[in-house]
Amino acid sequence: MALVIKNLHYTYKTGKKALNGINLTIEEGSFTVISGPNGSGKTTLAKLLVGLLKPTEGSIDAKNVGILFQVPENQLFETTVIEDVMFGPINFGRTKEQAREDAIKALKSVGITEAFYNRDPFRLSDGQKRLVALAGVLATGCTTLVLDEVAAGLDWNAEQRVFGILKNLQSQGMTIIVISHNPEHAVQYADKYIYLKDGLIEENAVAHTRIEDFASRFTGQIASLIQTS
Ligand code: ADP
Ligand code: MG
Repeated sequence: MALVIKNLHYTYKTGKKALNGINLTIEEGSFTVISGPNGSGKTTLAKLLVGLLKPTEGSIDAKNVGILFQVPENQLFETTVIEDVMFGPINFGRTKEQAREDAIKALKSVGITEAFYNRDPFRLSDGQKRLVALAGVLATGCTTLVLDEVAAGLDWNAEQRVFGILKNLQSQGMTIIVISHNPEHAVQYADKYIYLKDGLIEENAVAHTRIEDFASRFTGQIASLIQTS
């Protein structure tokens, strides 16, 4: 099922209009990057997609959406990796045994091996913490995954690993929505590129049309660095 957003508005209690009429269809099994400057409404949109906020006006038709927040470390809370990932399924009414199966499947899909199951999630590297938090979301059985600034603060290797895993999840049929204010890397994995500005969609493009543009901008930066040094 595609995810359909129609005339979506969201106004915070403070009176701040964060979204001003978004129309967007995200196809099932697609990989979308949503970008835009700070304050453009990306996180607000993410929260609406998972149902944490309700539209002020307009509608969202989406089911089974899971979210990984900007600081995924905040989504870890148990003393061992396996228990941490089991928390979601248990909360959704699965038995302990079923939850363990769900957790093992989810951990496998993000490349976390058995050797990590009994480790303290807070003592892992930042990249590993993010993968465990991601497994925790996947274990709940979501079919669409929203990731808010998932690569922030990761080094290039860890970032490539995360995007590789997301691409693999897409190949298994998941719908992936990556939110990033710095989309140059993510866009290489994407089918679709959305740019938000002031709570509106300013650009809705096929991702590969953006890659060359980012690449040439990057080359431009290098050229100007060489000139000034
Ligand atoms: P982004 O994720 O693109 O940086 P946000 O969705 O977080 O943007 O914010 C969009 C706008 O809504 C910003 O102007 C922000 O200050 C405002 N905003 C975000 N959260 C709240 C809140 N809880 N209360 C009031 N205003 C908010
Ligand atoms: Mg944000």
